[in-house]
Amino acid sequence: MSELSATIIGAGIVGVSTAAFLQREGYDVTIIDRVLPGEGCSFGNAGGLAFSEIVPTVHSRMLLKIPGWLVDPMGPLTIRWSYFPKALPWFLALARNSLPDRVRAITAARADLAMRVVSDFESLLKAAGTEDLIRYEDTLRLYDNEAQYLAEAPERAAKTPYGFEMKRLSGDEARELEPAIGPNVHCGVFHGGWYFLTNPGRAVKSIAAEVVKNGGRIIEDDVVSLVRDAGRVKALQLKTQGQHKVHRLVICAGAYSHLLAKQLGEKVLLEAERGYHMVLPNSGVKLSRSLTYARSPGAATPMEMGLRLAGSDEFAGLDAAPNYARADALWKNFKAVLPGLRQPDQETTRWMGRRPGTPDSLPVIGPSKTTANVWYGFGHGHMGLTWGPTTGRLIAETMSGRKSNIDLAPFRADRF
Ligand SMILES: Cc1cc2nc3c(=O)[nH]c(=O)nc-3n(C[C@H](O)[C@H](O)[C@H](O)COP(=O)(O)OP(=O)(O)OC[C@H]3O[C@@H](n4cnc5c(N)ncnc54)[C@H](O)[C@@H]3O)c2cc1C
Repeated sequence: MSELSATIIGAGIVGVSTAAFLQREGYDVTIIDRVLPGEGCSFGNAGGLAFSEIVPTVHSRMLLKIPGWLVDPMGPLTIRWSYFPKALPWFLALARNSLPDRVRAITAARADLAMRVVSDFESLLKAAGTEDLIRYEDTLRLYDNEAQYLAEAPERAAKTPYGFEMKRLSGDEARELEPAIGPNVHCGVFHGGWYFLTNPGRAVKSIAAEVVKNGGRIIEDDVVSLVRDAGRVKALQLKTQGQHKVHRLVICAGAYSHLLAKQLGEKVLLEAERGYHMVLPNSGVKLSRSLTYARSPGAATPMEMGLRLAGSDEFAGLDAAPNYARADALWKNFKAVLPGLRQPDQETTRWMGRRPGTPDSLPVIGPSKTTANVWYGFGHGHMGLTWGPTTGRLIAETMSGRKSNIDLAPFRADRF
């Protein structure tokens, strides 16, 4: 086996991006996944290249909203209470990370990570011939009233020092731009840097196809265990194809990554933040950009397949059955600002995916602390599509011994 050979577990946006950037460093790459590329969480997200989203997913002001959301069974956040004891250490860490000092540090780290998101994505999609999947229209956030708009002033203030400009529009200006927006919308604000992809699953598949075209291999199998020897992983035990020898290994297994890290003696706090989508091919609504709505987290994105409504955050573990009523709740939410939105019909599809969520809204990127030939790229939570290509580049650079453009300390695996 060549010195420059790497195996990547996971063919989501993070895994395929890592494989593509490793190839550029001269590595011979193999990707292993139990499903086809782009069929995990990367398949069904809202498509947002949300590089201005530098404030952590949860901060102290949001903590105050959580009790209200939890009492509403169809609210944007839900916990299956039977699962709560298992997730308790994660929630305690979440609370610690919601303190102002931590929020400032996390915001700075997320801003660092955001710096080359667009160029890293463009570079991969251009090589794959699918750069037309990126739409350079900034997402518009909608508000019901002035109080709702003012309540988000601290988040906007946290972003401005990093150069993200959030332009306000009156309700009429928003409707002029997007005639589908209803008369009750009071005002809108551009997110300040949030483009979108018109088909995230196809983007992942196109990068994977390019990896194969350049000599990479994709093996469809389940990695059951990591076979260790003298402080290294020497092979992967696959469910159906025996052992696969590895020289260097990158774990990009999304919401399942902590199970593999645990085998290497590394404790990572990771929860499946289960999100839902509904795609309406016959939505009756024409949009030229993606919308978010301050009343409830989630996005409405015009895609190749139709209008995709995506969002929701459900803590129920990896294996609980989906509750598609949560996808229907997204429809109800957006109907309030898009009055022309048609009822779901027989062509409407619903989906659930597992965001790999850490309690500090930062991914794990970099080498394992226990095992010499292992690197990590997972835990991207609500931002994996956005940060996936950049993560791949950073892993490829560090594995090749090159200095990266940002400080990777906030993303260490041993921080939990
Ligand atoms: C509703 C929703 C909306 C979202 N909207 C956005 C958005 O607008 N912008 C954004 O940036 N992000 C968004 N996200 C988040 C984003 O989709 C995820 O962070 C991202 O897809 C994670 O990518 P990944 O490659 O880490 O994981 P995945 O895409 O899940 O890939 C991991 C792969 O690892 C494989 N795997 C795991 N364990 C094993 C094993 N033992 N053996 C073999 N294979 C294994 C899985 O099969 C899977 O294919 C959203 C998520 C959801 C659910």
